[in-house]
Amino acid sequence: MTSVLTIVLLVTVSFSMTALSNEQLINGLNERATRDGLTGLLNRTAFLELAAKQIDRLHTAGSVSTVILADLDHFKALNDGHGHAAGDAAIQAFAAACQASVRHTDLVGRYGGEEFIILLPGANPESAEIITALISRRLAAAQAPGGIPFPTVSYGIASSTIAGAELGRMIEEADTALYQAKALGRNRVVRAGSGP
Ligand code: GH3
Ligand code: MG
Ligand code: MG
Repeated sequence: MTSVLTIVLLVTVSFSMTALSNEQLINGLNERATRDGLTGLLNRTAFLELAAKQIDRLHTAGSVSTVILADLDHFKALNDGHGHAAGDAAIQAFAAACQASVRHTDLVGRYGGEEFIILLPGANPESAEIITALISRRLAAAQAPGGIPFPTVSYGIASSTIAGAELGRMIEEADTALYQAKALGRNRVVRAGSGP
């Protein structure tokens, strides 16, 4: 009788262990599929999927949301002058500055090389602009390895009210605003629709 109980116990334990390791495996795979390896931020695909759902949900509830596109200034010069590792450190520091400056319900993604995208659900462009100042201040105050200064950052901001609550259009508007920020001398923020 005791040995039957032992076998039942062993089988149960081994099934639970298999279930647990499968769950860990699935979690690990999911993490890899949705996160950027260098920064741990959402990757582009995951960001776009989650952000579109959030914007839709908020729009239906009658609430605004705002997108920020950020691009590190003269980043190629940092890479060329101090090496790829210095560039990587700047990307990681910028990602950390973003995460420390937003709420846990906001979405932060790595949009491409040294370009980032943030969705602030429920926030208007004015609040988004305050967040960009906070991020840039954090980055400027962060400890740079080897004393190589981190780059400044340019931002473009677009809210759902000017882009019909459609993520693709919000990104286009934010991108145009970002382009203006670059053209105006970089290290600044431009809100979509605020230009001449
Ligand atoms: P601008 O101020 O106009 O944005 O100029 P920029 O030099 O920042 O922009 P540019 O598009 O000319 O250069 C971006 C560089 O970013 C080129 C590319 O090699 C580099 N890059 C892209 N991904 C990574 C990465 O993961 N790590 C590093 N270290 N560099 C990267
Ligand atoms: Mg760029
Ligand atoms: Mg750049």
